[in-house]
Amino acid sequence: MRIMSSTPFASLALPNPRLAAEQIRGILAEHWGVDGTLEEIGSSQDQNFGVTDADGRRFVLKVANPHWRRGELDMQNRAMLHTAANADFDAPVPVPARDGALIVRACGHDVRLLTWVEGRPLCDFGHLRAPVWRALGRLSARSARALAGFEHPELGRDLQWDPRRCAEVLDALGDLVEGEPRELLGRAREAFTTVAADGAGLPVAPIHCDVTDYNTVSGASAGEGLPTGLLDFGDVVRTWRVSDVACAAVSAIAHDLDDPLGVALAVLEGYHRESALSPPEVNAFWPLVLARAAVCAISATQQAAVSPENVLAERAVVDDWAVLRALDGVVTVLGVAASRAACGLEPDVRGAALPELLARAGCAPMLDTAGAVAIDLSVGSDGLAFGAWSDARALAAAVADGAGSDGMALGRWGEIRIEPGPPGERPPATLHLGADAFAAPGTDIRAPLEGIIASHADGEMWLECRAGETVAHVRLSRVEPARAAGDRVARGDVIARVAPATRGLLPPHVHVQLCAAPGLPGMGRPRERAAWLGLCPDPSVLLGADVRAREPRSAGRERDRRERVIASPQRLYYDEPPEMVRGWRHVLYDADGRPYVDAVNNVAVVGHSHPAVVEAATRQLRLLNTNSRFLYGAMTEYAERLSGLLPAGLDRVFLVNSGSEAVDLALRLARAFTGRRDVLALQGAYHGWTKATDELCTNPIDRPGWRDELAAHVHVAEQPDPYRGRFGDDGSRYAESVRRACRAAPDGLAAFVAEPLLGNQGGVEPASGYFAAAYDAVRAAGGVCIADEVQVGYGRTGESFWAFEHEGVVPDIVCVAKAVGNGHPLGAVVCRPEIADAFDRQAPFFSSTGGSPVSCRIGLAVLDAIERDGLQGNARQTGTRLRAGFERLATQHPIIGAVHGRGLYLGVDLVRDRETREPAAAEALAICERLRDLGVIVQPTGDAFNVLKIKPPLCIDADGADHLLGALERTLGERAPRR
Ligand code: PMP
Repeated sequence: MRIMSSTPFASLALPNPRLAAEQIRGILAEHWGVDGTLEEIGSSQDQNFGVTDADGRRFVLKVANPHWRRGELDMQNRAMLHTAANADFDAPVPVPARDGALIVRACGHDVRLLTWVEGRPLCDFGHLRAPVWRALGRLSARSARALAGFEHPELGRDLQWDPRRCAEVLDALGDLVEGEPRELLGRAREAFTTVAADGAGLPVAPIHCDVTDYNTVSGASAGEGLPTGLLDFGDVVRTWRVSDVACAAVSAIAHDLDDPLGVALAVLEGYHRESALSPPEVNAFWPLVLARAAVCAISATQQAAVSPENVLAERAVVDDWAVLRALDGVVTVLGVAASRAACGLEPDVRGAALPELLARAGCAPMLDTAGAVAIDLSVGSDGLAFGAWSDARALAAAVADGAGSDGMALGRWGEIRIEPGPPGERPPATLHLGADAFAAPGTDIRAPLEGIIASHADGEMWLECRAGETVAHVRLSRVEPARAAGDRVARGDVIARVAPATRGLLPPHVHVQLCAAPGLPGMGRPRERAAWLGLCPDPSVLLGADVRAREPRSAGRERDRRERVIASPQRLYYDEPPEMVRGWRHVLYDADGRPYVDAVNNVAVVGHSHPAVVEAATRQLRLLNTNSRFLYGAMTEYAERLSGLLPAGLDRVFLVNSGSEAVDLALRLARAFTGRRDVLALQGAYHGWTKATDELCTNPIDRPGWRDELAAHVHVAEQPDPYRGRFGDDGSRYAESVRRACRAAPDGLAAFVAEPLLGNQGGVEPASGYFAAAYDAVRAAGGVCIADEVQVGYGRTGESFWAFEHEGVVPDIVCVAKAVGNGHPLGAVVCRPEIADAFDRQAPFFSSTGGSPVSCRIGLAVLDAIERDGLQGNARQTGTRLRAGFERLATQHPIIGAVHGRGLYLGVDLVRDRETREPAAAEALAICERLRDLGVIVQPTGDAFNVLKIKPPLCIDADGADHLLGALERTLGERAPRR
């Protein structure tokens, strides 16, 4: 590889020093009187060793690359001391040698000993989330504050890493590569020239200039990845202050190449909140990010060429070019506008002014929109139920319905729509940046002002019009041209016609978009909403009609509002909960139109918004809804269907509103039947929130204080857990604790209540023979056996309709809820006649809404749908696919200790150590957060909250299952150290 020798920077790339360990030991002993163990740690240009002396004190020994001048090393030392004296984070300081010197000359090199800063470098983490990147931004602002006032003659040195010199470095080293990489450098350089031209407006300060994942450590007590210390003052220089945050952003992007803009903005926000940047600095941020990434990439190539044995440099080449490539995928004007929006500035000043300027210039409507009606095609549109967004006929009907008879329908600007297609790992572009005019093919489209047809291709036309000093770029898509590219056109000229619908699902229309820059896409990601709508402002003026969509509330604002009124024990999933707007089949859509595979909603058993359930509810609501003291057919019909699914003898049905009510009532039935009070439940159980069911709760998550609060009449049986239990898979030995409880209850046991598949433990299959032995013991002692099938029943386990069937037992009382109403509040208790009769002798039973006509019609529709859609079979088939996938992942990722469950009630048990089976609880939560980024909703469960519970709607298909598996595979892979 050729290194250009005529540049000031080419000579900087000298090979790393290579002193032998013996030499290092000698230097340490002679100059610092330190004797210790050595460990070589990587360096891009120097040679570094970790040193631990006999007292356990740790240091870093640095052998400087010969290109560093003494004065520069001295400057670095002084900068460290200055920082350490002022900083609120950890930073190293030089350790004086025996003679007091901070730099010693040994074996032909300048050598320094520095104090060690505890913590794990951020580069050792794989993927990290936005809070960490905001904290990195904050750290770079804090480091600049700590260096404020630092003076040294070498602060103004020539440095390859000084961002002001980006163009020179790229010019000097660009020849090292050719083809696509060369073009990447060219585009980054072009962006940089805008900053360089404006550089005079940028404040200059002494900065660290290398606050990167490599030089930042996270102490053990900080949250995962949160930075606590800063190392390596080798690049300290006086330069543009804003460069610090750009450098930090580039290093962060390497951890999430899918989202360079999101990561960079998080770093920027963190910095700006800590230390406000000026508008020119904010404008410079994105170009400096591009320039820094380009300099890193080409410098890595250069360093790897001169130090071929330096593995670190080799890896940097791959990583740094990947970052540059990812950045190149972001539209540059968007990067700038989004940076401005993140810092509270108008995203694009030209864009903001465009509508007004066009109006003043006498802009005429491009189509005849008299009487036009703006219609709702948003995520939450009433007109788009049952997946209409991916069905051309349903969309055409929704457009026709919305428009009415005498007006053209207009699709709104700034609307968030659902993009057809299954959930993916990246959020789709769902924000509509223009407006749609739905009109017959062939409808004329006219120039709003005098202008030039800039281009036309593939049904997309760009028109440029002048409005005062500003150029408006008008994007038309789905059109056939009436004029050619390059033509000058006058206001009112026909320039194009609506094309017949050839692509996409919407009926014929023209998409009209006003843009502050050419080449922008028609849809953007809602996360950059302000930036996109700043660049593509309201096009109402081009259509002569108001086409603005209502601005959605942000999920953050919705959450604040909730917190003011919803009582706080009602917790939310996730750190930053998405606002859910729509559900369809096994997919949930948030307010950004982001689809997620829903692996948590066992309640929506037949799928979200199942048409048959909607129809049954609607029909019955229009007809009659009253209470069960009236005679109506739906209640009997539903009770017959339900008891028909249960073994003979279980044929008396009570209808209630929830699982808690069902189990609560079952306990009362058992007590009435046996005349006893004591109840036995499994350790770790959850059966509901009523007083009687809460008494049985011994789950540390749902009831942390259960041990101290346990009522005398409640007994706890050992969990028959073959994975963590004492007796492995020997069910009869666990049943011994049931026998013990039967003996311990002074007046005998009324009931034993349990989930026949341990749902709250994440679908743990009970040890073999446990339920048979336990039920025998309970019955022998005169008690009754209650099966809580609220979570695990109703076809979910695949092989059978009820989970107890797997255990070869028949309960005396069965409780169901959740799935039975597919989300409508409905629960049921089914028991033997003599149990119901015993209760009847004590009191009547009545629930105002339990078993209402509407509930029962819904209950019947759910059972019909389970049958008609073959959902129990799908639970078996797709459940098998998922289980096989989890088991395959377990062979690659030791964090998976076991896979539990049956059918579509599965649990992925996460452990820190496969031998000790220590639960990996914090990891489980972090994995769930990451899965959500990747379009999957999963939550932890289990006594330690370390088991990923997988209980999706039973209609989940193979694609949904594969997306879940792919996202989990990626998440687990990302947790491995990056370098
Ligand atoms: N039993 C079990 C096993 C449950 O998991 C739950 C709820 N998670 C309940 C009962 C209570 O049901 P609900 O929330 O409908 O009151």
